[in-house]
Amino acid sequence: KPVSLVAGNWKMNGQRGSWKEIDSLITKIDKEAPADCEVLICPPLTLMALFAVDASQSKVQIGAQDCHQNNKGAHTGDVSASMIADCGGSHIIVGHSERRADHQETSALVHDKAVSVVENGMKAIICVGETEAERDAGDAVKIVLDQISQSVPSTATSETVIIAYEPVWAIGTGRTPTVADVEEIHTAIRNSLIDRFSSDGAGFSILYGGSVKPSNAKELMGAENVNGALVGGASLKADDFNGIIDAY
Ligand code: 13P
Repeated sequence: KPVSLVAGNWKMNGQRGSWKEIDSLITKIDKEAPADCEVLICPPLTLMALFAVDASQSKVQIGAQDCHQNNKGAHTGDVSASMIADCGGSHIIVGHSERRADHQETSALVHDKAVSVVENGMKAIICVGETEAERDAGDAVKIVLDQISQSVPSTATSETVIIAYEPVWAIGTGRTPTVADVEEIHTAIRNSLIDRFSSDGAGFSILYGGSVKPSNAKELMGAENVNGALVGGASLKADDFNGIIDAY
């Protein structure tokens, strides 16, 4: 059975003082979060090490939003998966659509990053999702399955890789697909994982992301083959993030 996960992606937001607000959230999560639902926060790297130390005794896991595909070397400005593991990270998001768009990341590169994450003992959250034009053209399923087949390494297992379906047009827009559309994509992803990884394909967690908030979280996370959420904007406010965890 897939692990359920509610993950917050802070993107390029957060100062040192941000921890104060989520400090109370952590206490609350420790007390109230359902035992069968994991909670992850991916702050910017400037805060990750700090948060990882503070959260180490709690139920909250801390991760990163990206990494370089190599372990070390002359790559100015980059940070490797091994360095993130060294700082206490448990998960790394790879292939977010903002990285694919802003940094021209291809699925082949995302694949190599995911390999590095897993080789360093962490879990890779591999993001996929169609643009609005691709959906309008009726190509959403095909685009997503192509991204899955190229980005997910053949060595992936349900223990080491998590999929996040994030339709690009739903990110930060307040718009979400219908539950039927979410189920169509998630079921297509599930079937492709079972085709490729046999029975282990049934165990991969598949998260939905894109304008998740407390008011729609129950409906979206209750959809078939949806095993949790990857939350952007609403993860920046403790009340909203907590409301999404409560909805699980
Ligand atoms: P929003 O929740 O702000 O739409 O962002 C989703 C996202 O991109 C999470 O990775």
